[in-house]
Amino acid sequence: MWYLYVLQCNDASFYTGITNDVPRRLAEHQAGRGARYTRIRLPVRLLAAWRYPDRSAATQAEAAFKKLRRAAKQSRVESRRPFLGAPFAFEVLDDPQPQRFCMRCGGPLEIHIRDAEPLWVCTLCGWRHYRNAKPCAGALILRDGCVLLIRRDREPYTGFWDIPGGFLRADELPQDGAIREAREETGLDVQIVALLGFYLDSYVYQGEHSPTLNIYFVTTATGEPVVGDEADAFRWFPLDALPEQIAFAHAPQVLADLRTWLEGQ
Ligand SMILES: [Zn+2]
Repeated sequence: MWYLYVLQCNDASFYTGITNDVPRRLAEHQAGRGARYTRIRLPVRLLAAWRYPDRSAATQAEAAFKKLRRAAKQSRVESRRPFLGAPFAFEVLDDPQPQRFCMRCGGPLEIHIRDAEPLWVCTLCGWRHYRNAKPCAGALILRDGCVLLIRRDREPYTGFWDIPGGFLRADELPQDGAIREAREETGLDVQIVALLGFYLDSYVYQGEHSPTLNIYFVTTATGEPVVGDEADAFRWFPLDALPEQIAFAHAPQVLADLRTWLEGQ
């Protein structure tokens, strides 16, 4: 097995390489013997790895990864989805899986690879722990060509601008969740105008990554917003003058799509 691996250096830059022994390679980097690039950017942290059948496939994947823009790299790393047909190598990370024990019987889990996706199976009772994305809904609140964003006051992405939204409740439709989250986070009662689309991402909670399926609605509202839960400020941004720091890897694409949608109206 060969691995494409991605390190984060101490200046937040990414370093990409291939190896057939991730722990040994990581130790070489940490000791300053891995690469000139990482030697002056220690410590490094292993962010991601994908598992390929041979060196040639890993080399091809490395070339493809290096061509990605930074935001795309970040998104690949965070989503932990397969890259060029290869499964994410959860087993080489420090936090290899969202749960280590069966939620039904407490038995230890082991990873099976099924359709190039990892599947955790209980070694005692055989229960399969499918790792589905958690659904989230967000409200793009428009007024006079501007979108309302809130500034997060908590992790993750503290201080970044964010689209009002959040996790759906178990018995909640996406449109209802978007309306509820908008009310909680901005004080506004929004009216849904259109469904914009669906976006994959991941949410890091206490060091563990949960895949998310994010559903966005274009909405309008009357009245004035207030600073609500999870934020310390709000602001109306023109769609051609958005802030630099926007929370969550998928959100810039959402706002770009919103702009395209608005131009088509
Ligand atoms: Zn079990």
